[in-house]
Amino acid sequence: MLFMAVQIYMINSIWKQKEELLLMRYKTLSREGLSLLLSKKKANGFEKAMDITDKFAGLVASEKLPVLKTADDTAAFRKQVLEQTYSIIEKNEALSSFLRSYIKKAGYENDFKTEVFISYFSLLTYDGPLEIARITPPDIPGTMVLVNSFMQEHNNFVIDYSFLINLTNKKEMVFREAFLSLALITGSILIVIMVFVITWRNLMEEKRLSDLKTDFINNMTHELKTPLSTITVAGRTLEKEQILNDPTRILETAHLIGKQSIHLNQLINTILEVSLLERSEFELTRQEVNVDELTHQIVASFLTSCDGCAVIKEEYNTGGVIVSLDLLYYTTMVNNLLANAVKYCASEPVIWITTSSEDKNVAVTVADNGVGIAREHLDHIFEKFYRITEGNIHKTKGLGLGLYYVNRIANAHGGEVTVNSKPGKGTTFKIRIPL
Ligand code: ADP
Repeated sequence: MLFMAVQIYMINSIWKQKEELLLMRYKTLSREGLSLLLSKKKANGFEKAMDITDKFAGLVASEKLPVLKTADDTAAFRKQVLEQTYSIIEKNEALSSFLRSYIKKAGYENDFKTEVFISYFSLLTYDGPLEIARITPPDIPGTMVLVNSFMQEHNNFVIDYSFLINLTNKKEMVFREAFLSLALITGSILIVIMVFVITWRNLMEEKRLSDLKTDFINNMTHELKTPLSTITVAGRTLEKEQILNDPTRILETAHLIGKQSIHLNQLINTILEVSLLERSEFELTRQEVNVDELTHQIVASFLTSCDGCAVIKEEYNTGGVIVSLDLLYYTTMVNNLLANAVKYCASEPVIWITTSSEDKNVAVTVADNGVGIAREHLDHIFEKFYRITEGNIHKTKGLGLGLYYVNRIANAHGGEVTVNSKPGKGTTFKIRIPL
């Protein structure tokens, strides 16, 4: 803000400075021109005008002087004489054209107007001087330059007048002269605004990431605590005497501890993988595999491990195409999609898994009948730690890493993952891997 204020102040002062310089230049040039005229030609450019005015004044003052009875008569007469004098001078003065060519030769614009201002004018009559005008000069407006004031006495009149140059298009002239400086300043203002906007956006992005991280830590703590507390309770149970005589319960508890330890281990691995992935790129250990067969195996073991938690409809259409991929990562990818399809479903989960051959890719589609994803989240769900925390979904556990992995694994294979969803109807993920 301060910088902007300084810039605006600078623009303002540059403008004023250029304006003063312009007026000064025309003042100097026109005065130089006038002195040249005076020194070389012994003339000031008003000789002809003064001669004619003299004749006109003589004529008015002698024979044609009307009888002025009332004050109104006198005023009207003065006005008429003054107007005539103005027009005689303006028609016959030679200074304007001389200055125009002088200024042009000096290399500057000369399309200015010239003006004469009569401040005192009096006719000399037989009955003494008759004052026609005595006008205090008004303040010179900002576009005008006073070239010189003249005082002249002739046979038939006395006159004081000023000659001025009027730079009617002064603004345009100043603009042309100040253009470069103004452009530079405006450019720098634009750069500052741009930097400001970029910094602001970066800040917002950082804030968003930091919020995501905080959410992640909260989720992670929650996720780790659940199996841990189960294990603790199970451990305490085993310490109780009455249970020592009941081998079935011992076995059950041990089984529970085992299951929870595996879950805990998986969670820790996931977290470790994140930090590992951050530091290095994926290193794929590619193998030539039949995608249809591999996908079917993954589906089968998924169903076993979750005790048939969903109905999965399979359709393999690649004709057993062989693809070079990392077996482990591919399995993680499909498993994550299947697990989400089950997690984010309000009713009985039904999943359709399909493979097909495209032009240069093999495509694997996982579609579900789940809760769906609102439009505004679709662009973000592949981001690290991103979770949708509205509606009932936040009750579902997760770390916001599943889809992040899926996307990164697909990319590491040179492929991609896309999503299509209708809230309330279901979601379809499509993985494409180049053949
Ligand atoms: P997590 O499941 O741990 O929250 P993910 O990265 O797997 O993290 O998913 C990110 C978010 O995308 C989830 O929080 C969920 O809201 C949404 N999501 C993912 N898969 C589905 C799906 N099949 N149906 C509806 N929402 C989904």
